[in-house]
Amino acid sequence: MTVIDQFLESHCLSKEEYRELLSYWEDKETESLLKEEAVRLRKQYYGNKVYTRGLIEFTNYCKNNCYYCGIRRDNRHIERYRLTEEEILGCCRQGYQLGYRTFVLQGGEDPYYSDERMEHIIRAVKQEFPDCALTLSVGERSYESYRILRNAGADRYLLRHETADEGLYGFVHPPEMKLKLRKQCLFDLKELGYQVGAGFMVGIPGQTLSHIAEDLCFLQKLQPEMVGIGPFIPHHDTIYAKEKAGSVNLTLFLLAVIRIMLPKVLLPATTALGTMDPKGREKGLAAGANVVMPNLSPMKNRKLYELYDNKICTGEEAAECIGCLGRRVESVGYRLVEERGDALR
Ligand code: SAH
Repeated sequence: MTVIDQFLESHCLSKEEYRELLSYWEDKETESLLKEEAVRLRKQYYGNKVYTRGLIEFTNYCKNNCYYCGIRRDNRHIERYRLTEEEILGCCRQGYQLGYRTFVLQGGEDPYYSDERMEHIIRAVKQEFPDCALTLSVGERSYESYRILRNAGADRYLLRHETADEGLYGFVHPPEMKLKLRKQCLFDLKELGYQVGAGFMVGIPGQTLSHIAEDLCFLQKLQPEMVGIGPFIPHHDTIYAKEKAGSVNLTLFLLAVIRIMLPKVLLPATTALGTMDPKGREKGLAAGANVVMPNLSPMKNRKLYELYDNKICTGEEAAECIGCLGRRVESVGYRLVEERGDALR
């Protein structure tokens, strides 16, 4: 039996076997086999539904210095901004009108948003929109902090592990950032009852297929409800300015693998994928993705939340954004739905 048959049958492999499976990523036949199975599973659990998450990028201040990221602390060339609670609520109101039932508050690691301030914002959003899910994506915090935010009403948390390999993690982050802590945060979030999203970038400098095999093993162990992956894209103000971007095709292959590994997972076709390929998000849906995350941030701030160069959807009003995505989703046979879209257990 080949490693591909073995994976299709058991949905679970060892690191060495994942490494072997990944060696087939440019093989057309393997790719279509995996995508077919991914789409079959995706349809079995989610039909032709695609869930939307309204992404509110509420601060681009960050105390971290991740080498790949455009909003890293030491980038002096960007204008920093913070949204007020009232501005955040304004984004939610507009989003609710447009049919969003999940809001994602994402930002840099900005100490201004203390537990008290975050708690206040979370309670305000949940009070006004009790039928909506609230997702946070604000980086590493203490167990106690995660507990306070959870008690305030946060339902989900996105924290990509970025890479599960110690060596590569150390290579793309400054010494004060530790993979151990990042992983601990993810397990803490799970224990506190959040629906948790992990994930990684494809094609980050220094990454090999063995590193990606390690990422897959970590996801298998963590069993997250959500997985966010997208190609690495260089940002002009980072040391990786001249590096190559990650491969769209490898990202698509990995979306299919992750769908098969975690059949019920919530898997976004990311903005980074759409940035690298004009049909990237449609291709993502056709490889097993079932979530899209349109931008709900105020127009005036969109261009300032610049994690990487040429990010798409920074020049459109929220209404145009969801209209455009709705048509894109329909073009590949799916439909956007007005639901919270919780993880299936
Ligand atoms: N501060 C939050 C949010 C980070 S931004 C946190 O730590 O979770 C969200 C994601 O964007 C990151 O997890 C990273 O995987 C991705 N990202 C950052 N820089 C990128 C780049 N240059 N190309 C592609 N993705 C990038």
